[in-house]
Parts: sequence; structure tokens; C-alpha cells
Amino acid sequence: MNKIVLKLGGTIMTLFLVVLLPLGYVANQIFTNFYYSQVQEEIGDLSQKYARNITSLEDEKIIDMFKNLAELTNKEIYITNANGKVIADSGVQMANLSQRAINQLANGQTIQKKFDSINTGESYLGSGHPITKSNTFQGSLFVLASINDVQGPVQKIRDLLILSAVGALFLALGFTYVISKKMSDPLIEMEQATREIAKGNLDIQVNISSSDEVGSLGKAINDLALETNRYRSNRREFLANISHELRTPISYLRGYAEVLNKELYRTEEERKQYLTIIEDESERMTRLISDLFDLSKMEEGKVDLQMDVMNLTEILDSALLKVRIELEKKGLALKSNIDYNVPSVKVDGIRLEQIFTNLLGNAIRYTEKGSINVIVRETVNRIHVIIEDTGIGIPEKELALIFERFHRVEKSRSRELGGTGLGLAIVKNLVEIQDGSIVVNSKVGSGTRFELSFPIVGEGR
Ligand code: ADP
Repeated sequence: MNKIVLKLGGTIMTLFLVVLLPLGYVANQIFTNFYYSQVQEEIGDLSQKYARNITSLEDEKIIDMFKNLAELTNKEIYITNANGKVIADSGVQMANLSQRAINQLANGQTIQKKFDSINTGESYLGSGHPITKSNTFQGSLFVLASINDVQGPVQKIRDLLILSAVGALFLALGFTYVISKKMSDPLIEMEQATREIAKGNLDIQVNISSSDEVGSLGKAINDLALETNRYRSNRREFLANISHELRTPISYLRGYAEVLNKELYRTEEERKQYLTIIEDESERMTRLISDLFDLSKMEEGKVDLQMDVMNLTEILDSALLKVRIELEKKGLALKSNIDYNVPSVKVDGIRLEQIFTNLLGNAIRYTEKGSINVIVRETVNRIHVIIEDTGIGIPEKELALIFERFHRVEKSRSRELGGTGLGLAIVKNLVEIQDGSIVVNSKVGSGTRFELSFPIVGEGR
């Protein structure tokens, strides 16, 4: 048996006994006293009635009649004369009365006390009443009830009381066992479940049968298992993605290095082409590694932000300057509608520039002709930056997924264009840790629009 059942059971049983024992004692006292006083009253009544009806102590017939009556009512009687000497009895012999008793009776008082028979030694409850004739004390009449006769029914009641106490005790034992088991079983199940979770068995779920604290603990354990499971499969997928992403450039590097090493090229131009591929792939790997590093730091919440109050249009300008060459290379136009008078925001300048260059880079990468539009405007409490392109667009069902690590709409196209699949995941993280928000709208074939917004700080303009 487990300990909680014992502890709980012990406590309930102790409480039960603490209540039951005094209660039993009191009930026993009440019943006994009640029964004794009933008998006292009865013999008191009888002795009074009999004594009143005796007119002469010499009349043997009357005395015999009372003896018979005593037998019928299962009582004993004895009669004394005025000197306290027993002159008649119904079978039990009693000592003569003491002077004190005689005086009491002579004064018209009744006597209630315990008597012992001198022939049988049995004890009796007795009640004596004076017999008077024209106001003179003649003697007395005693009615006796055997203590054994009184104790019999009392004992019966006591037995009944004990029996019901024992019954209640067993009932309480059973009840306690059921209750404490019902309380401890879920705890034991939870203990086993957490041990399983610790061992790595994350598919385990605890049965929740109540909505109290124990139930909510069970739910917390289930959530923990689910969350850890999700985290584990996420990490597994992440590692698989990383190794895949790293393997591809490495196989390019190895392949082209081999070609060069074995001089398997025909023209100088071909050689240069292979060297360029090696350069591009190494560059991509460096980017991938630094992106991964950034992302893992962000996910652990370990990015140190240098938050300053500033005008974000300056940062946007610097990002636009950096992407200008690429923009021109692809022959795309830059249309900007920037309100340079917007109030300040509190951001990390370097990180904000990283966000802008990333979004601008994507816009250029996924746009073949047309333009990139950049808009900055102010609404109540927020500054909005919109980066819009006229590129290939993103299918609607992909829109919710593009912020996930390594999610790419067209793997080969992204690779071809030098993407790592981590850019937007980093952007979203960076925006959110700076209290900003990002939303995307897109239409396949007509273009994509990313809208960032940051809260305006206090007074600053
Ligand atoms: P990648 O390095 O592949 O660009 P990102 O995380 O930056 O990775 O973007 C994820 C995917 O979202 C991209 O592979 C691309 O399919 C899609 N995407 C992002 N920006 C644009 C855009 N401006 N136009 C069209 N598709 C885009």
C-alpha cells in the first residue's frame, strides 16, 4: 500500500475515532441513566400505591395479595413494622431497617436506595414508602427491582451501540480506503508519467478525471509532454534542415574543386566559371552559418539590443543605399514615398537595418521587372514602413508559412537566387523583439507587400 493512502486513511480514521468514542460514551451514559430512572420511578410509584392500600399490618390476606402482585410485576416486596423489623417478604430476605431509615419513613419520607439481600446476596434497587393509619406510622412497604433485571436491557442497548460503532468503523474504513485511493491514484499516475517524460517517452498522457488542483496538475503535465514533444520534433527537423542545407554547398565545393584539381575543364572561361561557383557557394555557406547563429541566439532570447530613440527613415535610407547596386543590376525602379518628418521610434539601429536590407533583398530577388516601392507613413501611435514589389508573388496558402525557418515557396528558385530560407524567420524575430509587427500580402504574378509597424515613443519628433 502506498504512503498517501496510509497517511490520509490514518488521519480520517483518527478523526472518526475522536468523534465516535466520546459520542458512544455519552450515548451509553444517557441510555443507562434513562433506564435506571425509569425503573426508579416505576418502583417509587408502586411502593407508594401499595403502601397506601395497606390498611392493617395484621391482615395477612392483603399482605399475600401484595406478594402476588409483586410476583406478577416481576418485583420483590417486603414489609416492615413501625420498629423497622421485616414482617413479610416475597422471598428475598432483607435486613431490618436502620434507625435513620425508620425516622425518615416515620416523617413521611420515601427511601430510594440500593439494597442487598441477606440470603442470596443479590443487589436490588429499592423504594420504600411509609404505611400510615389515621396519621400514625405503622410500618413501611418496599418494592425492589433486581439490579440484574435492570442491567440486562441496559447491556442490550450497550451491545447494540457497540455493534453499530463497529459497523460504522468498518464502513468508515472502506470509505477511507476508497477516498484515499481515489486521491492518490492520479498522483501515482502523474509520478509515473513524469518519470516516463524524463526518460524521453513524450507520447505519454495522464488521465484527467477531475477539474480540481490535481486535475490541473495533470493537465500541466500533459501540456509539458506535448510541448517538449513539439520542441523535440522541431529541433529534429531543424537539425535535418541544417545538415541538408550545409551538405548541398559542400557537395558543390567538393565537386568543382575536384574538376579544377583534375583539370577537367576545356577553356579558361570554364575554369573561371567553376571558380565563381566555388566562391558563391562559400559565400552562401558563410551567410547560412551566420544566419543560423543569429536565429539560434534569437530563439534563446539572447540577442543584446541597443535600443535608441531615432528616426527610422535614416536607417531606411542607409539600407536603400546598400541595395541600390543590386537594384540597378536588375534594372528595377525604386519608387519611394517617405515622410521624413515622422516621430521617433525606439529601436536597435543595426537590427532595424538588417530587417530592411533583408526585405529589400527579397523584393529584388523575387522581382524580375517593374519596381520596388517603399512607403513610410504615420498613423495613430505607430509608424508604418511598407516594402512592396511587382515580383512573382506568393501563393495564398504559403503566406502563413514563409516566416518559418527554411520554408521556401520554390526551393530551387530560392537556392538559385542565393537564399537560405532563414531570412524571414530572422526578420520576424527581430521585429517582434523590438515591439514591432509585420504582415504580408501577396498576389501570385503581381507582387508582394510587407508592412512593418513600430510604436511611436513618448514625445519625440
Ligand atoms: P530565402 O532565403 O529563400 O529568400 P526567406 O526566409 O527570406 O528565404 O523567404 C522565404 C520564402 O518566402 C522565399 O523562399 C520565397 O519563396 C518567399 N518570399 C520572400 N519574399 C518574397 C518576395 N518579396 N516575393 C516573393 N516571394 C518571396
